[in-house]
Amino acid sequence: MINLTIKQALEKLKSREISATELARAHLERIEKYGDKLNCYITRTPERALADAAAADERIANGTAHALDGIPIAMKDLFATKGIRTTAASHMLENFVPEYESTISQKFIDAGTVLLGKSNLDEFAMGTFSKTSYFGAPVNPWQIEKHLTAGGSSGGSTSAVAGGLAMGATGTDTGGSIRFPCSITGLVGMKPTYGLCSRWGCVAFASSLDTPGPIARTVDDAALLLSVMAGHDDKDSTSSPNASFEMNSELKPILGDGKKLRVGVIKEFNNVQISNDMKTLFEKRIADLKSLGAEIVEVSIPNVLDALAAYYIIAPAEASSNLARYDGMRYGLRVEGSDLYDTYKKTRAAGFGEEVQRRMLIGTAVLSSESYEVYFMQAARVRRMIADAFNSAFEQCDLIVCPSGASTAMPLDSDLSPLEYYALDLFTVAMNLAGVPAVSVPCGLAQNGLPLGMQVVGRRFDDMRVLQLAKHIETAANVDNRPTVIMGE
Ligand code: GLN
Repeated sequence: MINLTIKQALEKLKSREISATELARAHLERIEKYGDKLNCYITRTPERALADAAAADERIANGTAHALDGIPIAMKDLFATKGIRTTAASHMLENFVPEYESTISQKFIDAGTVLLGKSNLDEFAMGTFSKTSYFGAPVNPWQIEKHLTAGGSSGGSTSAVAGGLAMGATGTDTGGSIRFPCSITGLVGMKPTYGLCSRWGCVAFASSLDTPGPIARTVDDAALLLSVMAGHDDKDSTSSPNASFEMNSELKPILGDGKKLRVGVIKEFNNVQISNDMKTLFEKRIADLKSLGAEIVEVSIPNVLDALAAYYIIAPAEASSNLARYDGMRYGLRVEGSDLYDTYKKTRAAGFGEEVQRRMLIGTAVLSSESYEVYFMQAARVRRMIADAFNSAFEQCDLIVCPSGASTAMPLDSDLSPLEYYALDLFTVAMNLAGVPAVSVPCGLAQNGLPLGMQVVGRRFDDMRVLQLAKHIETAANVDNRPTVIMGE
């Protein structure tokens, strides 16, 4: 049963060939079996899952089924869930039980999904391998014996979905945290247009960049999840007033039958070092799009390679302000000191891990009066230039394609410096700075048998066409989308 896509499962649930309870049990068994090995869940919620499933079965029986009734999902442990601990993978929030439900998780409840648990991530979503998690790193189910990263920061979500421990999951993407982990686990992951999905109740990292989005095994499934997640929310001041994304059962072709489409390739990315596998697969998929009738055009985003530097100033700056609230006073960890300041110091020193502390320091430094103009304002200007360049590029093409990363999943014990980790975000951060939608879709398997992904990027609020083109790439790449075989079962 774990081999079904969300779309197939919905059909079988509707025809009563399977029940939501059976589907939930199949996933709970899989979690029992592999949950520890993959370390993909921080908190498991089996009782809640069975109760959700029973309620879904009842609605299906009396003909009042919701959009995703009975679909078992994992919720990134950054979304506040009422009565269920929400940790952000930090010691600071290790025992935090919210009294409210985030908008996104509420939308999944309203859609009838079954909550399997809260998935693992980098601490406060800061990282690329999910190694900064206070609860240890999740493992990539692909070639599990090699102990590879499932990516970050949404690495628990990708580990769970790729391994068949959830049918779909939520992620958040501030600089690539949905797309990069999906690209190295053979999944489809989308960073929607900024403002399409509400951030309310999602633990903040860098508010002007944070974007909730779906993680699934097929493009249609990702679109189904996005239909549930999208929509205006009064509680989030940056939520767009006309945010909406609706898809009923599957995405329609955007190519073939003489349809015209201009697909852009970013010139500046041509000179970036990527693996031969990535290069070959990317070229193959472009050739496929061409043979379907797409016109390939070269576009320029002049500052795209500066996006990384701008991101690593803006994101820490916003983070240092957002995380100032963890002071041991109202909620979260508190370590008693000799006086107020000592309590602040001790609490924050004990509660935050090394990478989070590094970002706080960088963030406060670039916001200081001596550095503000030279660093922060300069980064803000680069950001504006990149957003403008995307706008101009989209006058010459309808959609853009580019790699999601340079190579396949690396071992969890790779010894990289902070800067080497940051450099892995080269292909993803520009889209966050510009606020445009981008999806990562599998484009094939490398020689070593591991998956690689490429991105489709669109104009703001062109999320539908981004997914439609991704579906053509998915079909051409034809990567097996069943959960990865774990330990030779
Ligand atoms: N790897 C990036 C970082 O460490 C992106 C994280 C994210 O998108 N949440 O900031």
